[in-house]
Amino acid sequence: MTDFITSLIHHPYKPPSGFAAPQPGVFKASTVFFPNVAAMREFDWKDKTAYTYGLHGTPTTYILEERLCTLEGGAQCLLVPSGLAAIATVSLALLKTGDEVLIPDNAYGPSKALAAGELIDWGITHRYFDPMSPADLATKITPKTKLVWLEAAGSVTLEFPDLCEQVRICKRAGVLCALDNTWGAGLAFKPFDLLPGAQPALAVDISVHALTKYPSGGGDVLMGSVITVDERLHMVLKLCHMRMGIGVGANDAETVLRSLPSMPLRYRAHDETTRVLAQWSAQRSEFAQVLHPALPNSPGHVHWQKLCDGGVGSAAGLFSVIFKPEFTQTQVDAFCNALKLFKIGYSWGGPISLVVPYELSTMRQHWPNYIRQGILVRFSIGLESAQDLQADLLQALSALA
Ligand SMILES: *Cc1c(COP(=O)(O)O)cnc(C)c1O
Repeated sequence: MTDFITSLIHHPYKPPSGFAAPQPGVFKASTVFFPNVAAMREFDWKDKTAYTYGLHGTPTTYILEERLCTLEGGAQCLLVPSGLAAIATVSLALLKTGDEVLIPDNAYGPSKALAAGELIDWGITHRYFDPMSPADLATKITPKTKLVWLEAAGSVTLEFPDLCEQVRICKRAGVLCALDNTWGAGLAFKPFDLLPGAQPALAVDISVHALTKYPSGGGDVLMGSVITVDERLHMVLKLCHMRMGIGVGANDAETVLRSLPSMPLRYRAHDETTRVLAQWSAQRSEFAQVLHPALPNSPGHVHWQKLCDGGVGSAAGLFSVIFKPEFTQTQVDAFCNALKLFKIGYSWGGPISLVVPYELSTMRQHWPNYIRQGILVRFSIGLESAQDLQADLLQALSALA
């Protein structure tokens, strides 16, 4: 097999003997029986060739972990009950009193809230860096810095950082870097092989993924993963994960397993439609700016093009617009309410298109100079036809008047 898309489908799944079927089974357990007391004493819960307790893994969760490693190009995987839980697990496992964590100013909001709400009380400080300035990241790393979060593209504003340079800066400083890879999803670029062919590979240390989004694909499952390539680092995370009692339900794991084989096709379809609508929006007079990494004047476009190669299937399904400053919040809210196919709701990655108005001024330390002033609305594009979605946007724009 040369293409990992095929390997997501023809995966080395071993069905129970005598029962060959396309999908792995749903194995549920808290208790797992041992053949005798000696086995109970001997089996190591960390060893995936043995089963010791439901929370430590079942055939269903082991298969999902393996497939997610295939998807992202990693070697070890932990499953957690949400994308945010993946972020929290990494921070709790790696940070101690006196440490500092650096977070990009455009990071997923609740990740910032965790730092400001919990980490601070445990004596762990945080600072925000400008995602578009590698120099700013470099100057903020100090001997206290133990973890750097990265995200490409940024949540809500979709600016694309120079991820390779950010990772190089962390490596040079000897600081661990963790990427929130929900947007790229293992499809737009490879987090553990950012410069294909480079020896040694240019890699993030940890990739977290909100499986809630594209891997689920249905808007009906909450789950997250923490993927690594270094066994020692994985063990640090795994011990913390175990002690905190974190696990996922078998039915949810099975739902994600069911969705994974079609994920590259869905991702490509989301991407294709999103480009059509982002380009159309860029021609509209109502908007001061359209944020989508494949648009040539979107912030960080060149970084996206270099890392993701620019081809269809490499830009996910999100774009944001900045309304011209003459439009009031009431008018923009009326636009959102007038949409029919687009539903008002958080998250993304499912078949139904979604819209959210955001208050950027409350989400950032500074309004970035590369983003025009005005009210921001983010669209998450589902699997509906581009024509129908465009017609919906057009009719809703008349509600601005
Ligand atoms: C949705 C999302 C998360 C959190 O995922 P949940 O499963 O909803 O907790 C984290 N990071 C990014 C970039 C996301 O979009």
